[in-house]
Amino acid sequence: MQSLRFKAIDNLTAVNDEVKVNSPAKITAIFGEHVFTLKTAREYLSDDAFKSLNNSIKSGQKIDRNIANHIAAGMRHWAQSKGVTHYTHWFQPLTGSSAEKHDSFFTLKPDGSAIEEFDGNALTQQEPDASSFPSGGIRATFEARGYTAWDPTSPAFIMNIGHGMTLCIPTIFVSYTGECLDYKAPLIKSIEALNKAAVDVCHYFDKNVGKVTATLGWEQEYFLIDEGLANARPDLLMTGRTVFGHAPAKGQQLEDHYFGSIPERVYDFMRDFEYESYRLGIPLRTRHNEVAPAQFECAPIFEELNLAVDHNTLLMDVMARVAKRHKLRVLLHEKPFAGINGSGKHNNWSMATDTGVNLLAPGKTPKTNFMFLAFFVNTIKAVHDHADLLRAAIASAGNDHRLGANEAPPAIISAYIGRYLTKVLDEVESRVSEKFDEQDEVMLKLDIHKNIPELLLDNTDRNRTSPFAFTGNKFEFRAVGSSANCGYNMTVLNTIMAETLTRFKTEVDAHIEKGEKKEVAIMHVLKSYIKTAKNVLFEGDGYSQEWQEEAARRGLPNFKTTPLALDALVTDKAKTLFKKHKVLSHTELEARHEIELEKYIKHVQIEGRVMGDLAGNHILPAAIRYQNILIANISGLKNIGLPESAYAAQIKILAEISEHINKVLVLAEEMTEARKSANALTSSREKAIAYCDNVKPYFEDIRYSVDKLELLVDDSEWELPKYREMLFLR
Ligand code: ADP
Ligand code: MG
Repeated sequence: MQSLRFKAIDNLTAVNDEVKVNSPAKITAIFGEHVFTLKTAREYLSDDAFKSLNNSIKSGQKIDRNIANHIAAGMRHWAQSKGVTHYTHWFQPLTGSSAEKHDSFFTLKPDGSAIEEFDGNALTQQEPDASSFPSGGIRATFEARGYTAWDPTSPAFIMNIGHGMTLCIPTIFVSYTGECLDYKAPLIKSIEALNKAAVDVCHYFDKNVGKVTATLGWEQEYFLIDEGLANARPDLLMTGRTVFGHAPAKGQQLEDHYFGSIPERVYDFMRDFEYESYRLGIPLRTRHNEVAPAQFECAPIFEELNLAVDHNTLLMDVMARVAKRHKLRVLLHEKPFAGINGSGKHNNWSMATDTGVNLLAPGKTPKTNFMFLAFFVNTIKAVHDHADLLRAAIASAGNDHRLGANEAPPAIISAYIGRYLTKVLDEVESRVSEKFDEQDEVMLKLDIHKNIPELLLDNTDRNRTSPFAFTGNKFEFRAVGSSANCGYNMTVLNTIMAETLTRFKTEVDAHIEKGEKKEVAIMHVLKSYIKTAKNVLFEGDGYSQEWQEEAARRGLPNFKTTPLALDALVTDKAKTLFKKHKVLSHTELEARHEIELEKYIKHVQIEGRVMGDLAGNHILPAAIRYQNILIANISGLKNIGLPESAYAAQIKILAEISEHINKVLVLAEEMTEARKSANALTSSREKAIAYCDNVKPYFEDIRYSVDKLELLVDDSEWELPKYREMLFLR
């Protein structure tokens, strides 16, 4: 029987023509047509209902039950006008992907008459069974219920799957006792904490600021490969990455993929998922090839943080579905292929005031520059003081392949700010003295804005190896994994920023009470922050061995693996921090720690099993078949009386194959034993460490022999699609 590999290769040439590509003539004509935007709400809601919804979005005002009924009815009418029959609460449990449970509008009245209905209760609250989602021990066994609650700040949307249309209501997901079981609830709380702290600090500079919103523009990297080839790789199906596969003769060394022309089949896919995204109001803007072959990236225009996170979660889903239509498979794993770049998600983060100022953009006047400097230095201080938490926030089995390995960015959290701003900070540090007064402040001339060209130079010449880089008007958190839900790492970033700004305010106020002028007080505190926090600044090559050593000398944390990096979530410092800002309770933090450990264990466990299965069912049978061919060949040559020298080469290959078969078998057995010992441990932390230290090391060794076999065995016997096929055929 022909193997899946060769069938897939045969099919490759045939697939392209069948797919219809949706592409609008004008993006604005379809943008947001599947979203219950405020503009749509205006059309479908009464004045009172609209006002209430608007107030809830703008200032968090509660919507009363009666009004909720009106809003629900309006939403249903709109949705039905688009052909929607069902609705669902759409939420982001800690599994990482989004979840939904669909109900129809259709219902029967007691008298048996059928009607379509969607009331305020159904809009605002549902009770999915929480027992099928990770809770990290929060959910007492006697109380399996959890509930989802409407988040009016993220608009409802229509999900179109095949011919089905569903009205999706973005919600938070909490346990019956009120603890968060999702990414969204703590994110919203952290946005509020940041708002409060940032507004207070803004008032030193501008009394008119009433609200500060966090903004996020994510960049999503992904791999795209032919679906037939993916289906022939059980490891990709089960783990999202290839556990075996010899590097192709050509990898990314020619650097000819980055910003190269986009292959047509990929281009069709991109236009198609962009179309779906536009209808959902996801403002995609950029598309291009990435560094590795078969690797691509897309990015939207930035949005308010909560909405941006929803849009990223939604996009990952849309991409996967549209890819299926194109007989392609999207790989969001952080490291689908060994030996070439992995994928990240670059989170561009900033803060904006309701007066229209980006707090991380150098301003146009000395006064706004001063405000920029305050927020800029506070961000660096936050990263310095809580680097361990930022690291924990991006820890996962997949991301370990990037952060812990010799690939960007490193596991050490540092910040890159460029030469020019380094100079500015140095200047503040050296010139702001005890006796510093306002006159000197004028002397310091915060004329950062006059040096925009220098700033831009730094920015274009930017350091791609930094996990947290200032890029002119925002920080880019580049260490986030490509498959991650942005919610969690952004929650951490907001919270540490809220904490730093709160302390900053207390310290500045204390200086003012001592009789210092406001500007002088601010400068004094900023100087002290620069002094302590500059330890976390690094402008050099983040991949280099020197940086590992230098970071150790500076005492910066460097956790290469997830089980240890996660410890930061449950330190006293972290518990106090998250509780103080009402973002996560102790119980919730403990639960998250537990869930992340469990996730890690399961991922490594599944990879281990898949390796064992693949070796047994695919690799060794192919190697043995080829051995038999060689044996037949050797004995044939011997039979016709040729001397040993005539088949010496065959014997050598045979011996090599035997050696690797043997190694794979022995190592796979040892790995199974290591798994058993790990499974016997009761503490999740210890189990995760055992999987990391005792099970995972076998992966490399087994892979080494399997990849050697791939080179030795006749290509026609090899069943797994090879790297060159997955990466270059489309
Ligand atoms: P690059 O990273 O290639 O330099 P850009 O700087 O244009 O690209 O933007 C990268 C991402 O950063 C985009 O999603 C963009 O919308 C986003 N971005 C720009 N300004 C901000 C901001 N103030 N806050 C958050 N994200 C922003
Ligand atoms: Mg970028």
